[in-house]
Amino acid sequence: MRIVVDRDLCDGHGMCEAMAHEYFELDDDDVMTVLDESPPDSERATVHAAVQACPALALSLQD
Ligand code: SF4
Repeated sequence: MRIVVDRDLCDGHGMCEAMAHEYFELDDDDVMTVLDESPPDSERATVHAAVQACPALALSLQD
C-alpha cells in the first residue's frame, strides 16, 4: 500500500493529520508531509480513514 498525494489539490486542511498523525504532518505553514508513504497493511483502516477525510480529495491509496 502506498499513499499518493496530489499536491495541486492539497490545501492544508489538516484532516489527514487529525485522523492519522503517525502518517501525516502539517508544518507551521500548513504544508503537509507524508511521514511514511508505505504503511503496513495492518494500518490500512487508519490510513484509509484519513484518505476519506480529506475534503480536497488530494489523497489516494495504491496497492
Ligand atoms: S486533509 Fe487533504 S488537503 Fe488537508 S492537508 Fe491532508 S491531504 Fe492536504
